[in-house]
Parts: sequence; C-alpha cells; structure tokens
Amino acid sequence: MRLVLATRNAHKAREFAALLAPHEVVPLPDDVVLPPETGTTFAENALGKARAAAAALGVVAIADDSGIEAAALDGAPGVYSARYAGPHASDADNLAKLLREAPAGSALAYVCAIAVVDPTGPGGPERPREAVFEGRCTGTLDPEPRGEGGFGYDPAFVPDDPIAHGSGPRPRTMAELSVAEKDAISHRGHAARLLLPWLERLSGG
Ligand code: IMP
Repeated sequence: MRLVLATRNAHKAREFAALLAPHEVVPLPDDVVLPPETGTTFAENALGKARAAAAALGVVAIADDSGIEAAALDGAPGVYSARYAGPHASDADNLAKLLREAPAGSALAYVCAIAVVDPTGPGGPERPREAVFEGRCTGTLDPEPRGEGGFGYDPAFVPDDPIAHGSGPRPRTMAELSVAEKDAISHRGHAARLLLPWLERLSGG
C-alpha cells in the first residue's frame, strides 16, 4: 500500500523506504505543516506528526520520533536528541555535546516510536484508526567516533548486538555497519517490523 511519511529528514526517509518495502513510502508534500515536537514522549510526538499528515492529505500516514537515551544522564537527551546542543544544532554539535556530558562506555539506548494514522477506515477522518509501535536498540558510548554510514549519534554508538563485535581490534560503531546490518538491529528496524503486520491487515481490508 501507499503511505505518506511525515518527516523532513532524508536519512529517515531512506531507511523507511527499505524497511517497509514492498509498501510504497511517499514523501510529505512541501505544503503540509507538521506540528512542533512538544510532547514529553516519543509516542506523543510521532502521533502528532502522523495525525497532521493524515488530516491534511486524507491518506494513511506514518511518522516516527526517535532519539538516544544515556543512562548516565538519566535518559537525556531523549526526546530532545535532535536539538540537544541548541535549537539549530547540527548532528556533529549534538554528538560533541553527548561526548562531553556522558562518560566513555556509558550505557545508551536508541528509541523509536512509529505512529500510523488511517483516516480512510469506517470511522472516517473524524475517528481514524491509530497505532504506535516502539523499538529499542541498546549500546555503549565510544569516545572515538568513526564510520561514514548512518547519521546523528551513530559514529559514537557501539551496539550491544554481536554483529558489532567481530574479530577486529575494536567493535564497530553503528556508522560502520552496512545499511542492511543497521536495519536488522536498529530501533527503527524493530519498530518497523512491528508495524508491518498492522499494514498487512489494513491492505487485506
Ligand atoms: P527526530 O526523531 O526527528 O526528533 O530526531 C531524532 C534525533 O535523534 C536525530 O536528529 C538524531 O540526532 C537522533 N537519532 C534518531 N535515530 C537515530 C539513528 O538511527 N542514528 C543516529 N541518531 C539518531
């Protein structure tokens, strides 16, 4: 089926296109305005974006909200991950701040909530069908960022998954994994695999 992805993040759009195949993930038209991420949970923020896109377009919409939690920082930056170093911070600024604030080896968790909103069901746009799926990926903070793949905090995130701990001299960071390897273990991958059966039921009627 066709789904609108309510994001302006090109990295996420690429990851979702692969994760949700064979469903067709179409980009959000430029004129749809997404609400600010003012929620205190990933689920709340994801639902806000998916609801806005579904209401504006009248089609099934999905959105995700994701971030990284550091145990040493009581779960920060959490829902503020994208603007950890300030409202216009770059990925590099945010990563540099995490490396300053959290000790090397800190326990980390990536979290992703995916919301799906379907305004085409029997309840119509007034009572859309909605669901939220959450995925997690745990790891540790590596003080020597490396790798060209992924985005955001990936260069300093060493996944706990054995896939990152091979025979090399040091473990691989998320940014050193291939796209397929990241999809297999990531928070977004786990959440997307929970969403897939829901979409199957929807397309089955
Ligand atoms: P948002 O979901 O658009 O609010 O942004 C989430 C932020 O969390 C991103 O800007 C990244 O800083 C971080 N993040 C989320 N998922 C990932 C990931 O897969 N790799 C690296 N950083 C991520």
